[in-house]
Amino acid sequence: MTGSSLAALEAEIVSCRACPRLVAWREEVGRVKRRAFADQEYWARPVPGFGDPDPWLVVVGLAPSAHGANRTGRVFTGDPSGDVLFSALWRAGLASQPESTGRGDGMRLRGCRVAAAVRCAPPDNRPAPDERSRCRPYLVRELSLCPGVRVLLALGAVGWDAALRALDAPRPWPRFGHGSEARLGDLWLLGSYHPSPQNVSTGRLTPAMLDGVLARARALGRGPSSSAHEQDD
Ligand code: SF4
Repeated sequence: MTGSSLAALEAEIVSCRACPRLVAWREEVGRVKRRAFADQEYWARPVPGFGDPDPWLVVVGLAPSAHGANRTGRVFTGDPSGDVLFSALWRAGLASQPESTGRGDGMRLRGCRVAAAVRCAPPDNRPAPDERSRCRPYLVRELSLCPGVRVLLALGAVGWDAALRALDAPRPWPRFGHGSEARLGDLWLLGSYHPSPQNVSTGRLTPAMLDGVLARARALGRGPSSSAHEQDD
């Protein structure tokens, strides 16, 4: 792959068609749509990372959801998982607002970037092993273009696995769990349960638990304490 900046990488990701199954699925979902969004034009393409171009924290999720990021074109935007994540980032002073509804909503992240293990929406939210492998170089490159990163926060086991592989972490690998943490070279890797509706509705992940992981990330990364709430540029 080529490209020397985040913008070039994002453009490359958005035009990727390397996984036939996922290309077919993301485009079919965009054509059929969910009734509630029938009047909207779905993005129906790969979804690049979003946030601060010089982050100390990178959040690594699973993949776009069919009617969330695959609709809005911004990672974790337009679905219940994103509502939980962005409200937590806002409480942590990393996001300019708690609601994330679309690319034009004015959201800005400070010190934080949100990416995913796989950039196209997979059926049943389950990317195949070969699809995860094919997409991994994008995460590797995104991290290499963010030299100030000190903490990776993996949301769920797939994000955890993607982060370990992207960092070419030596084995044995640390096990994933909520609150898991590992030192990998100059970086810290933290784990959190994914803010999926299933995890949130069952209480497996509460807002307080996510707040706790973000506070731990702040402590480990010694990120700036200034609040993104105050950002106005
Ligand atoms: S999942 Fe990744 S590698 Fe596969 S088509 Fe989408 S962007 Fe390309």
